[in-house]
Amino acid sequence: MKIQEMADALRRYEQEVAKTNIFRYTNTVDRVERYPNIFGMNFEVMMSTPDEKKAEVFLAQQRRADVMRRLMTGQTVGDDEVRESFGFSLAELEACRREQEPLKKPIPSNLCVLCFDDALKSQYDVALPVLKELGFNATFFITEMQETPRDRPFEDKSVYMTWEQIKEIEDAGFELGNHSLHHVFGSQNMGRDFNLEQIRGMEAEFEAHGLKKPVTYAYPSGISNPEVVACARACGYRWGRGNQEKGKEGIRGMTYYDPHQDSPLAICNFGDPDFYSEEFLRRRIADTPEGMIFGLTYHGVSDAEWLGPCSFRRQMEVLREMGTRVISMAQLEEFIDPEKAYQYTID
Ligand SMILES: [Zn+2]
Repeated sequence: MKIQEMADALRRYEQEVAKTNIFRYTNTVDRVERYPNIFGMNFEVMMSTPDEKKAEVFLAQQRRADVMRRLMTGQTVGDDEVRESFGFSLAELEACRREQEPLKKPIPSNLCVLCFDDALKSQYDVALPVLKELGFNATFFITEMQETPRDRPFEDKSVYMTWEQIKEIEDAGFELGNHSLHHVFGSQNMGRDFNLEQIRGMEAEFEAHGLKKPVTYAYPSGISNPEVVACARACGYRWGRGNQEKGKEGIRGMTYYDPHQDSPLAICNFGDPDFYSEEFLRRRIADTPEGMIFGLTYHGVSDAEWLGPCSFRRQMEVLREMGTRVISMAQLEEFIDPEKAYQYTID
């Protein structure tokens, strides 16, 4: 990247951030529909109002809009003003908002959600002993990988765990998550029926091997969209991991999980930490914004599979040295009510 491109990218970023300010950019129909009370002018109502009443109706609309804008920007609003404009009190409004709050308790700054994908054998051989030693929990996402030019099939036990090993992981107190039956790339675009089959197919495997019914789902290739999120919800999942989420507002990539912004069925984290240096990992952990949750997803963790300069064991030691509390996805339940958090699901 050249200096001019870098400068342009930073400027565009600042401009994009500014565009998320609905008080400045209210020009799309979608936005107007979402925030009907902050614009202060309902043209349809105005047009159908007799001339002698127009001023009164206009002022009432403006007053409602003004109250709404002040509430949104955290300014003081009187109880009378709210009641006069909307017919309910500020206290009633605040009680309603508290009822919607998804947090059961504040998110501590040292939380890490740890995940392992694809039922790889090295997770049993290498990761499991390290996790036990350090007292960490984690979610292992299980799938029966199909053979592709990139992947060996699940039947190859030099690459993947056996069901006995998977059961042993559950018996040791770790969480097993559903990672779809066959890990089909692009499945997020293959429709509802296909995705339901993939979810239920893996549930049948869990049952056949004496495992608990999973409550956590990870979308194959880490990509979710409103349709597959709805599938996971229809199957009763409480948590879902989609490092990338695609909706009509755009694509969210790998980042920290914000329980006041992200759906509990499209939780993001950071994948491929096997490329990280120790310094980079430390900075990622330390940079976790307040109220958000840092997460890592690993695949192969043996020396042979490892590409980066900081080994898996060393990375786990760094988490411990930094005082991180390492949990499974289902353990988020201690902090977050996923039913209430579901309101943050995008469309
Ligand atoms: Zn995977």
